[in-house]
Amino acid sequence: MSQGHKRFHINEQELLCKNGCGFYGNPAWQGFCSKCWREEYQKAKNAQLQIDEQNKMMKQKTPVGAEGKAPSFSKFEEKKKRESDKRTHTVKSLFRKSSSKDIAAEQVAKREAMKRLSSESQQVGEGFADFLRNLSKPAALDVSKHIRALIEKIQQNPDVTVDEHSEIIQDFYQSMGDRLQTHPVYKGLTHTTSDKLMDYMEKYIMTRLYRAVFCSMWSDDEEQDLIIQKRIRSLHWVSEQNLEASISVNEPSVRALVDSAITDIIEMDSKRAPQDKLASVVRCSNHIFEALKASQNNEPASADDFLPALIYIVLQANPPRLQSNIKYITRFSNPSRLMSGEAGYYFTNLCCVVAFIENLNAESLNMTPEEFEGYMSGKLVPRDSKEGHICEGLRLMYQNLANLSELRQRHEKVMAEAMQLQQEIVEFKENFKKEIQSVLTKNPWTIKPRKTKVDLDAESPATDMLPPPLIPQIVGEPMVVQHDQSNANSTDMTTEPHVTVTDTAVEE
Ligand SMILES: [Zn+2]
Repeated sequence: MSQGHKRFHINEQELLCKNGCGFYGNPAWQGFCSKCWREEYQKAKNAQLQIDEQNKMMKQKTPVGAEGKAPSFSKFEEKKKRESDKRTHTVKSLFRKSSSKDIAAEQVAKREAMKRLSSESQQVGEGFADFLRNLSKPAALDVSKHIRALIEKIQQNPDVTVDEHSEIIQDFYQSMGDRLQTHPVYKGLTHTTSDKLMDYMEKYIMTRLYRAVFCSMWSDDEEQDLIIQKRIRSLHWVSEQNLEASISVNEPSVRALVDSAITDIIEMDSKRAPQDKLASVVRCSNHIFEALKASQNNEPASADDFLPALIYIVLQANPPRLQSNIKYITRFSNPSRLMSGEAGYYFTNLCCVVAFIENLNAESLNMTPEEFEGYMSGKLVPRDSKEGHICEGLRLMYQNLANLSELRQRHEKVMAEAMQLQQEIVEFKENFKKEIQSVLTKNPWTIKPRKTKVDLDAESPATDMLPPPLIPQIVGEPMVVQHDQSNANSTDMTTEPHVTVTDTAVEE
């Protein structure tokens, strides 16, 4: 570590591959980048094969010890041996009480479970299928053929070490990458499309194989997770000032960004594809840069400010299965992602942060060993320079209480307004009634009979008072006849000596 003005500092150079190829290195690859690491690995493996050959030839003469092995490869061997020891140990402990029949049944069940598609796999599979439809048919067929072969290969060998799985997947990325550039069925594929295709393949394969290879029981990842988790828990008292991180965590706007960064890094564990896990790391880092900027009067933060802040965030978040996630990304991500670019840079920083946390001591926090021990054992409680140190739980509780009281105030305001409105409704109704009453008293009603249409034919009492209608009289021949007869009976002249025919007389 170089001695700058910051204690937690790392040179850009130190993040890079120690081969000087310009890509980012990684502690998991002993400081090499993924490409150089694979080359080193192959070299060591070949050297070992040669030595084995030689040993075989000399076998009759002298027994050979481990000192004949290439020093770098013996590291790989050691690790493999450790893992295979662990495997037998774990398997034994797992199935101690079961018979060999049970073991076989368990293994069949396990294989079946791996073949069943989870909802995540189905979702990713659908997206991938949509994407493949945009390619030419031979290209799409070629891609799915290779992917199927790879998945079958892994599913048929679920019990190999996680490093062997990693090797298979990395070989696949490499050979598919080459194939996309050279094979005739992919002719005319643009650079962007082939990048997208590689992304989709990675996402699909790793979502399918996630359960089989993440935190594999054939590795010591779980133990490593517990160790770092415990370590972070014991460092809970380390404040942003101890780390010289320029974040004003008590500022509400900054606090919100810090909380987002913490959520992002915790969320990494819930994603399946390495690219999605990396995206969580990138989001977290961007939030940290924003928090730094907001803490420094909107001046953009430098890379020197970033590292201590990231340490602080990781200590605050204590991300679940941190080591497993880091190792999973290193083993199964498409290496081009980690070797350069934004994601590669932030991820390499995250790996350094884990190393810093593992080695954090009194000196790096600028305190006496007694002080450091006191805090670690809980005998000393750190005092915050500003408003007294409170733990995360209490801080959240206070924040929630504040939110609740604000909600209560708003609720009361709404209730008061509702009561007011009700009152107004009642008053309005009464006023309205009064208004109508006053108008009525000013202008009283007089009820007039209803006007109706006159029906000429209707019976009406008024007509009774009229004289009876004239009845037509018949005067004429019958009267004359009668008259003649009466003439014969009487001699005196009646009043009707002449026959007059009235206008109503019937003419016969
Ligand atoms: Zn390199």
